[in-house]
Amino acid sequence: MIQLFLPLNFLGFVYREIRRALTDLENMLGLFKRKPLISDTADAQLLQLTQGEISFNQVSFNYQQQRPILQQLSFTIPAGSKVAIVGASGAGKSTIARLLYRFYNLNSGNITIDGQDISQVTLDSLRRSIAIVPQDTVLFNSSIRDNIRYGRPDASEADIDHAISLAYLTDFITSLPQGDATLVGERGLKVSGGEKQRIAIARAILKRSPILIFDEATSALDSSSEQAILKAMREVARNHTSLVIAHRLSTITDADNIIVLKHGQLAEQGSHDSLLAAGGEYARMWQLQQKQQN
Ligand code: ATP
Repeated sequence: MIQLFLPLNFLGFVYREIRRALTDLENMLGLFKRKPLISDTADAQLLQLTQGEISFNQVSFNYQQQRPILQQLSFTIPAGSKVAIVGASGAGKSTIARLLYRFYNLNSGNITIDGQDISQVTLDSLRRSIAIVPQDTVLFNSSIRDNIRYGRPDASEADIDHAISLAYLTDFITSLPQGDATLVGERGLKVSGGEKQRIAIARAILKRSPILIFDEATSALDSSSEQAILKAMREVARNHTSLVIAHRLSTITDADNIIVLKHGQLAEQGSHDSLLAAGGEYARMWQLQQKQQN
């Protein structure tokens, strides 16, 4: 039996590795179809991450000529803190995340992590340092567990179990007859938006990157799902420098700093309480969202 099991097990491993490589390739092609190719400079250095402080210094950027998206934007995210970016649709919030991950080069200014200009470090070392929880996560056709493992393919089984628990996925998984072996993706179980985002959080936990970008889903989730995500996010953010792109202000009232973007410029920044007291753009957005909820 063992004689049969070992080769079959090996074949299974090869199959999984090929499928993983194909998924990576698909993701990369998808990425490059939409995004210009960015590459390392000839003398790119490895990013030396010590604390995890992020700084945008006079950053200007546009996707197309004559349509500025970010203009002279400066802000700092101190190491280990949680900063939220808010603003109207199209203000440039997700663009900030894309620039930090270096999907594009800047027109002017620079972005530094622990004092190192991200355009001068290797893309690989930059992207290994940042975990992203996107608005809409792609699940591939495999088990829930494999989808989580994707965050760090060489993670131990115990690490995966820990990520599942921190991402508040345990109850969901144990409610399924086949548990974490349940197939998801296009041909598998339909997973809700909230569950998908928690799978992405588990992946991010597993990746163990010191910097976390969380792009909040635009579509409203039911409140129990949203609460589970918020709890999971707080758990992850504990040991990270985190940047949250928020659509619902109620989810970021605990942020150390909230940056309000307006037409690609910094309109105001501060804590939830100080921004409410200031009675400016944030206070108006807050009142509007409170009215919409009632
Ligand atoms: P939302 O809250 O709706 O997600 P946002 O504040 O995150 O919006 P961004 O996605 O950063 O906004 O987009 C800022 C502006 O840049 C928008 O006007 C958008 O149309 C434009 N834009 C975004 N991506 C591209 C692109 N790949 N090419 C050209 N323009 C783009």
